[in-house]
Amino acid sequence: MSLIVTETQTAGGYPVERLRRLRRSDGLRALVRETHVTSDDLIYPLFVTHGSGIQREITSMPGQYQLSPDMLPREAALISELGIRAVILFGLPESKDPVGRESFRPDGIVQRAVRVLKDAVPDLIVITDVCLCQYTSHGHCGILDEAGYVLNDETLEVLQTVAVSHAEAGADVVAPSGMIDGMVKGIRQALDERDFAHLPILSYAVKYASAFYGPFREAADGAPSFGDRRTHQMDPANGREALREARLDVGEGADMLMVKPALAYLDIIRQLRDEHPAIPIAAYNVSGEYAMLKAAAQNGWIDERKTVLETLIGMKRAGADLIITYHAKDAARWFRGL
Ligand SMILES: [Zn+2]
Repeated sequence: MSLIVTETQTAGGYPVERLRRLRRSDGLRALVRETHVTSDDLIYPLFVTHGSGIQREITSMPGQYQLSPDMLPREAALISELGIRAVILFGLPESKDPVGRESFRPDGIVQRAVRVLKDAVPDLIVITDVCLCQYTSHGHCGILDEAGYVLNDETLEVLQTVAVSHAEAGADVVAPSGMIDGMVKGIRQALDERDFAHLPILSYAVKYASAFYGPFREAADGAPSFGDRRTHQMDPANGREALREARLDVGEGADMLMVKPALAYLDIIRQLRDEHPAIPIAAYNVSGEYAMLKAAAQNGWIDERKTVLETLIGMKRAGADLIITYHAKDAARWFRGL
């Protein structure tokens, strides 16, 4: 026994401050719980592909599917019944070209999916990812110069067209994800000029060049055909730069900020939370994070339910208001005791 008597100990050596008192029962623990995750916080990602009757499981993301538009009404109804309020859409185009033309076609896969979803479940919030990488033949997030470098301002013009086409299809929120400088400002201007001043922008403000996106590239068929995305996505080593990215996007009119990925970047979520107390912050619990827990759970190495809920709580405790997660449907079921 220690001979040092601290303020929290009586002279007899026993502690006065006993934190275990409030951990004694389920009831007490619930009463003093600081952080809660509910279905209201969750956004479910959907991968949409052309065709009909398609429900194709993504090998590296067990339980996640590419769906054709005709499969969406049933999926949307299920999501909504579970109490999930929002989805974010990713599209697999029919064909790809250097500019990514399907990304802004009125009958593009995302535009079609938005219409189907809003028709089926009008209250479901439909967020669209605004980027070119799934639509370009080279798989990069913008227009390239001869050297293969993503041209910034030329790409902005295309992103404006994409965002407007999503708005015209009925999207509730647009989410530019390309880490192109000025993307929030450019999209805000384009939306405002076309009577979409009411449409919020969720900016992928802080998106790292992460290896945790691996499974997504299979899911969305979006791997770059050469090189990588380090000339526009952030260096995982940088934290102060994240604050600068977030500050810029807020200044350009972002209504919500996102940090992507989540688990290796909880400190960044916390820093954004502290610096922007009044702006909703979303964490993207990415495909690699999902795949790790799924694989370990399938091997019987971890308890899926407990580890998933612990990671979601961790993201909220770090400061996220919203969590984009492939676990959303499972978590919503668990919240309901199903
Ligand atoms: Zn991209």
